[in-house]
Amino acid sequence: MSRQILPVADQAQVRAYARRLTLKYPRNLTAALGLHGLAAVAGLAVPWLLGSLVEGVSDGAGVDVTMVALAVGGFLVAQAVLVRFAVYVSSKLGEKVLAELRQEFVGRVLGLPLSTVERAGSGDLITRTSRDVDSLSRTVRHAVPETLIAVVTCVITVGALLLVGPLLVLPSLLAVPILWFATRWYLKRARDGYLRESAAYADMTDGLAETVGGARAVEALGLQDRRHRRTDTDISRSWAAERYTLRLRTLWFPAVELGYVIPIVATLVLGGVFYIQDWASLAQVTSATLYVQQLIDPLDRLLMWIDELQVGGASMARLLGVAEVPDDREAGSGTPDGERLRAADVRYAYREGHDVLHGIDLVVEPGERLAMVGPSGAGKSTLGRLLAGIHGPRTGAVTVGGTSLVELPLDDLRGHVALVTQEHHVFRGTLRDNVLIARPDADDARVREALEAVDAWDWVEAMPGGLDTAVGSGGEPVSAAQAQQLALARLVLADPHTLVLDEATSLIDPRAARNLERSLAAVLDGRTVIAIAHRLYTAHDADRVAVVEDGRISELGSHDELVAAEGSYAALWSSWHGTSK
Ligand code: ADP
Repeated sequence: MSRQILPVADQAQVRAYARRLTLKYPRNLTAALGLHGLAAVAGLAVPWLLGSLVEGVSDGAGVDVTMVALAVGGFLVAQAVLVRFAVYVSSKLGEKVLAELRQEFVGRVLGLPLSTVERAGSGDLITRTSRDVDSLSRTVRHAVPETLIAVVTCVITVGALLLVGPLLVLPSLLAVPILWFATRWYLKRARDGYLRESAAYADMTDGLAETVGGARAVEALGLQDRRHRRTDTDISRSWAAERYTLRLRTLWFPAVELGYVIPIVATLVLGGVFYIQDWASLAQVTSATLYVQQLIDPLDRLLMWIDELQVGGASMARLLGVAEVPDDREAGSGTPDGERLRAADVRYAYREGHDVLHGIDLVVEPGERLAMVGPSGAGKSTLGRLLAGIHGPRTGAVTVGGTSLVELPLDDLRGHVALVTQEHHVFRGTLRDNVLIARPDADDARVREALEAVDAWDWVEAMPGGLDTAVGSGGEPVSAAQAQQLALARLVLADPHTLVLDEATSLIDPRAARNLERSLAAVLDGRTVIAIAHRLYTAHDADRVAVVEDGRISELGSHDELVAAEGSYAALWSSWHGTSK
C-alpha cells in the first residue's frame, strides 16, 4: 500500500512494554495471583475427597459419607469466596493499568507533530483511538487476568495430578504435541492477520470520512462512482482480512478441542489398565480423571484468551507505534532575544524530493505589516505555516530573535508567533475554558479583557451562565462569528507579538464580517502582521509586499516601489485596480 500510515511497534517492543505494565504493581499482582492460587487449591480438594470416597466404598471399609459431603461443601464455599476476592483484586489492578495506558496514549496523540497527522490521514488515528483502544481495554480487563488465573490453575492442577500419582500424568501428555503444534501454527500467522485487519479497517474509515467530509466536492465533480468503487475495494479488502483470521480460527479451534478430549479418554483407559496391573489405586485413577477433566476449563480459557491477547497485542503495537513518530520539534534551550522574525534559505517539501519552497530569505521587522501575494499554489500558505513555526523547514532556519522556532516549546512559541486560521473550533467546556486554552493560568479579569478586546464580552455576558456557560457539543449554540471571536480572544490572551494571517480563511461569515473585522483589527493592533493577502487592498495598505511565485520571493518592497518597478506585482495591481473601478 502506498499510503503512509503511522508506525506500528514491533513484537519485542510490545512484549517489553507488556512486561513493564505487568510488573508495575508487584504487590497488587502478588495478591491477585495468591488469591487465585488459593481458590484453585480449594477446588482441587474435591476430586481428592471423591477419589478416597470411591476407594473407601469399593474396599468395603466404612466411610462417613456425610463428613465427606460436608467437607466437599466447605471447600466449594471457600473456593467461591476466594474467587470473589481474587476477581475483585485483579479487576482493580486491570482498571488501574488501563487508565494509565489511556492517559499515556492521549498524551502521545496530542504530542504528535501536526505535519505527521496531516500526512497519515485522520482515519488511521481515529481507528487507533477507538477500535484499538477498545480491543486493548478488553484485553487488559479480561484477557490478562483470565490468562493469569488460567495459568495459575493449570500449574496447580498439574501439581495435584503429580502428587496423586506421577504415572497418571502420562496419558495427558498425548495432548501436548497436538496443542503445541496447532497453537504455534496459529500464533505464527495471527499477529500479522490481525494487524492487516486493523489496517484495512483504518483504510475503510479513512475513505468513508473523506467521502462524507467532501460530499459536496464529490457531488460537484461527479465522483460518486469513483468513491463507490473505492469503498467497495476497501470493504472487500477488509472482508478478505477478516476471512483470513476467521480461517485461522476455524482450523485452530477444532484441533484444540481434540486436544482436550484425548487426555480424559486416555486417563480413563490407561488408568484402568494401570489399576488392573496394580500400578495405581482406584482412588488415584478417580482423582486423576477428575483432575484432568478440571484442567480443560482453565486450558480452554487460556487458549481462548491467547487469541484475544493476539488481538490486544496487535492493537497495542499500533498504539505504541504512535510514540515512534519522530518529533519535528527539537527541545532547545535558547530564549529569543528580540522580536525580529527571520527566514534564512528556507526550503520545504511535503513529499520527499518535491520542494515547494526553494530558498526563501526574509526578515520581518517588529511592528511591520507584510503582505504576501502571488498566484494560488505558489507556496504562500506553506511559508505562512513555516513562519508560524507549525512546520520545521527541511533546510535553512526560521528564527525569532535568533532562536529557531522549532526549538521553542509549543507553549512558548504561541507567545511569540501565532497563525490565525479559519479553524475556530469550539471546545466542549465552558466559555471560560475555551478562552483559557491559550493561557490556563489567566484570571477572570484577563479573560474578560480579552473578550472585550474582540467585542465579544456583551454576548458572553448575555449567555445564561456568563463565562460558566457550557458550549461545544451538547452545550449552548455558538455562531460561526462568535466562535471566531473566541479564537481571537484566545490570541489576545496568548499575546504573541507576531501574527500570520490567512485572509482567505479568517473572515468567513459575510454578515458578521464588519463586526469581525473590528475584532480582528483590535487583535492586530500593535503587532507584527504577516498577511497572506487575497485582496490587494491589504497589499496596498501594508508596509511591504512580498510577491511569492513558484516557491520563491520574486519581488519585495513597498506597494509604491513595486508598482514603480513594473514587475508582476505592478501587472497584478493594474489589472485588479482596473477591473475594480
Ligand atoms: P498558496 O498558499 O500560495 O496557494 P500553498 O502553500 O498552499 O500555496 O501550496 C504550495 C504547494 O504545496 C502547492 O503545490 C500545493 O499543492 C502543495 N501543498 C500544499 N499543502 C500540501 C499538503 N498538505 N500536502 C502536500 N502538498 C501540499
